[in-house]
Amino acid sequence: MAIRQILYAGDPRLRQKAKPVKQFGPALKALADDMLETMHAANGLGLAAPQIGVLQRLFVAHLPKDEKDPQSGKDFVLVNPQIVQASPESVEGVEGCLSMPSWYGRVARPEWVVVKAMNVYGKPIRIKAHGMLARVFQHEMDHLNGVLFVDHIRRPEDLWQELPEEESKESAPEAATAVAQPA
Ligand SMILES: [Zn+2]
Repeated sequence: MAIRQILYAGDPRLRQKAKPVKQFGPALKALADDMLETMHAANGLGLAAPQIGVLQRLFVAHLPKDEKDPQSGKDFVLVNPQIVQASPESVEGVEGCLSMPSWYGRVARPEWVVVKAMNVYGKPIRIKAHGMLARVFQHEMDHLNGVLFVDHIRRPEDLWQELPEEESKESAPEAATAVAQPA
């Protein structure tokens, strides 16, 4: 396993559409393991392959353990993910991005999504994600299409930058949790 370098906004690779994964197996598993290690080292909630310069359709995600949330505390690896169903109602939440450190914004997204994907060995998986996990999944899938969370923001008051001093209390998460965020 190795920690990979995370690309920052401005790098053209973050704006490209990633290609479907065709080769499954140990090499893909090794890439996913690197992505998980990189995400955890950066205290992120998710990381998409294009963020480390790999233009393939996969992402990883992990919510910190919370007794009330059975989907928390585990590592997700989704290859060639697709949203097959989404809640008709959207909810607003605060997001950050490992590729845009210190920037946060309020983004409206469906409250839940059903995602069809594959694991690193090509086995089909299907996950219904609610709340923060749904938000992270949608944020990461945007990265696979060259979309950043700021692209969803229409009003200037919905985007802000936190100074590093304030940030040190908290990590700069990918798709920041809704708690303890400034209004
Ligand atoms: Zn991001």
